Parts: sequence; C-alpha cells; structure tokens
Amino acid sequence: MLKLSNFIGGEFVSLQENYIDSYDPSIGKVYAQIPDSSEHEINLAVEAAQRAFHTWSKTPCSTRAQIMYRIADILESKLDEFALAESRDQGKTLEFAKNADIPRSIYNFRSPLGVAGLISPWNLPLYLLTWKIAPCIAAGCTCVAKPSEFTSMTAYMLCDIFKQAGLPEGVVNMVFGIGPKAGQALVSHPKVPLISFTGGTVTGKKLYETCAPLFKKVSLELGGKNANVIFEDCDFEKAVDTSIRAAFSNQGEICLCGSRIFVQKSIYEKFLESFVAKARQLVVGDPRDPKTKVGALISEQHMEKVLGYIELAKQEGGVIECGGKRKQLDGEFSDGYFVEPTVITNISPSCRVAQEEIFGPVVTVHPFETEEEAIDLANDNQYGLSCSVWSENGKRVRRVAESIKVGYVWINCWMVRDLRVPFGGVKQSGIGREGGEYSMNFFTEMKSICMAN
Ligand code: NAD
Repeated sequence: MLKLSNFIGGEFVSLQENYIDSYDPSIGKVYAQIPDSSEHEINLAVEAAQRAFHTWSKTPCSTRAQIMYRIADILESKLDEFALAESRDQGKTLEFAKNADIPRSIYNFRSPLGVAGLISPWNLPLYLLTWKIAPCIAAGCTCVAKPSEFTSMTAYMLCDIFKQAGLPEGVVNMVFGIGPKAGQALVSHPKVPLISFTGGTVTGKKLYETCAPLFKKVSLELGGKNANVIFEDCDFEKAVDTSIRAAFSNQGEICLCGSRIFVQKSIYEKFLESFVAKARQLVVGDPRDPKTKVGALISEQHMEKVLGYIELAKQEGGVIECGGKRKQLDGEFSDGYFVEPTVITNISPSCRVAQEEIFGPVVTVHPFETEEEAIDLANDNQYGLSCSVWSENGKRVRRVAESIKVGYVWINCWMVRDLRVPFGGVKQSGIGREGGEYSMNFFTEMKSICMAN
C-alpha cells in the first residue's frame, strides 16, 4: 500500500510510526496511508522554511517566475495522472478533475498574482492548495503547507514536481496530518506570522482564536450557503441548466454551490418541474466514467451528515421532490459514499436545512413574490460568500447585486471566474480577500521609510 511521506527541506521524510488511513470514497476502502504528523514535524518544516527564506526572498522575481513556470509546465504534462489521482482520492468525477481542479492548479503557478496560503480543505484539494502556495512563493515567502488529511495524494505528487522544477529546498514544505495536531501546531507556531486558511467556519473560529493573541496576519476563506435568485424575466433554460450545475457540481461539495434556490412565484412551478426532471437525469456513479455527473462524497461520516440533513428536512415537513437517499451501486462501488441529487421544497427558508451548510448534493427551493422579499431571503443567513441573480432586466440585477451581502455575485451565470479578481466572503464566510494583487498584499507588508535629504 502506498505510504506518503512529508516533504521537508526538499526531501521526502518518512515517519517511524503513526499513519492515517486514506480512503478511496467511491469504493469505501483504504488505498493509501498518510503521516499523522505532530508538532515535531511542524517544527522541522518551519526551521527548513526559515532557512530557505533568507535566500528565496532575495532571489530575483524573474528567477522565481522561471521556476514557477517550470512547475506549471511539468504539472501540465502530467494532467491526466493528477486528475486520476484527485478523482480517486476525493471521489469527484474524473471529468471535473480534468476540467477544473488540475487546470486551475496549473494556472495558479502561471499567475503569480493569485491567492496564497497554508491550510487547505478536501473539496478542491490541489486547486485550493496551489491557489495559496503560488502567490506565497511568488512574493518571496516560504511556507509550510498542510493539506486536508482526507485528500493528501496530489499534494504529495506535487512535491516531486517541486524537486524536478528545481525549487530550492525548504521553500515549500508539506506536512501531512490531522487538523487538531499538525494543523494546530502550525497555526500556533511563533515563527509563522502568516496564516492563510480555507475550510469550515467552526475550524476558522478556533484558528482565529489561536492567532489573535499572537497578532498573526490571517486570511480566512470559510463556509457558504449561497442563494440562487431567479426572477420571472430570466433566460429560463439557461437559468435551469446553470442552477443544476451550481447545485450538484462536485457532488455539491463546493463552498460556492447555489444550495438555496429562490424562484419568483409566477415561474416557480415551471422551474421546479424542469429542475427536478434534470436533477433526476444526472448520472451518479463511477467517478471515472465520462457519463457520470455526480461522484462519491468524501467520507462515510460526511455522507451520514448529508443524509442526516435530509432526514431533518422530512421532520421539518419538507417534501423530497427527488433523490433523498444513499445511492447503492453494484460491484466494486457497492460500499461507495454516493448520495442521490436531492431537491427539497415546502420548507421554511428559516429552518436548519435551508440555513446551514450541508456541503452535499442537496438543495432547497423556495418561492418569492417581490424583489424586496428576494433580497431579504437571500440576506437572511449567517454566511455571505456568493450568490447568483437571474434576470434580463439590467437595472434590477444591479440593484439586487448591490443589496445582497456577499463577497461575490454572479449575474446570469455561476462559477465564471477570473482567478485574479478579489475573492472572499463576509459575515461567517470569512475575512480578507484572495486573488491577484489581494494575495500579494497578504504575503507582503508595507513599510514607510522617510529619509532626510
Ligand atoms: P475543515 O475546517 O474541517 O478543515 C480544513 C483544514 O483545516 C484541514 O486541512 C484540516 O486538517 C485543518 N484543521 C482542522 N482543525 C484545525 C485546527 N484546529 N488547527 C489548524 N488546522 C485545522 O474543513 P473541510 O471539511 O476540510 O472543508 C470543507 C469546508 O471548507 C466547508 O465549510 C467549505 O465551505 C469550506 N470551503 C471554503 C472555501 C472558500 O473559499 N471560502 C473553499 C473551499 C471550502
């Protein structure tokens, strides 16, 4: 069985003991083991990063850029291999990994003015990790990165590319392990003044509490429960098709998924009928099959959480329009963590299922009558990451976009992104912006020097 090693000071370093099982979620079986690193490994990695910082921060930008382009080129030449590994490790469809995760990871290294960070989640493993590493090293910082313990494989494979591309030792150190142990040791380390974190809001709060007394510079990209607001004067077919993607892409495991759908009453029934019909057509299954649109959820525990919300919806009086249960497949996938795309109606927008982040293929659909009501409904949530607004009336979309309290608004689209524009949330969705110059601001510090003449 494949055993991963930490990557410290440019070398792969094995642990003597303590490994964590890593599952292939589509078959529900262990297929690799990752190091259960502790404070000791974090200390070694921080020391290596500190040693490297002296030289790397003084290396000319052009040299740093050359190495980063080399990393991107090698990664691109291995796109299929990385996409397959990401699909196996995370459960996402191979198609999604090939078209989104890995190309965006490559792009991150070719646009040094991108986002940067140290601790990443499992839903878009390599993409979100590289979105942090690239601007960090472009700015001349060095780093210790800790990917999610659920998805360490492509981060591990990337370390090999760092070596091949000639990245000086210690510039990027990768320590694998669980959050409360390796993650906490990294966040509380006194010699790590910058913490960039993407993950859940509860973890973000804990992390912020650790960083506050140490006055660390912190960027927090946290959870979301995003509204998708559909007015009667929208381009109907486009709104339905895109809402399906926004709801169920990557099994609904994207912080930007549109999981609270508000539809104007005059087209509510028509929308629901069409949306449910299309949700039923989505093929759930083997992530490597090109026909598959919904792969496996990350873990059994997460699948139970998602199914728990569906049960809660029933108790809250919700109607399950389609889906509603685990998808049982045959053969090698019989123990995989698959859940049917689920559409819930007849539920108050203020109930838990419509308010809390489920992070699975589950959406609620609600009618509204006026523009004011739509804005109130969209804003009635603890999160403020993104939203989509559908209408062909330019003045209306502008009014609504300005009134909804989120960091990112899509008008008549979803997931259209230039990775250089500022990205981040308000309210419980986080603090700070990443992307383009906003990432560079995070990884650098301004200083005023006044000279007497
Ligand atoms: P999580 O918070 O459980 O874990 C995220 C990372 O934090 C992991 O690497 C984990 O090991 C680490 N961690 C956990 N406890 C820690 C601690 N005490 N100290 C330091 N590190 C710790 O999140 P997850 O379940 O991996 O990811 C899903 C969440 O991420 C969802 O809420 C989703 O919305 C959010 N997310 C947000 C964005 C965004 O850009 N806003 C993007 C993707 C995912």
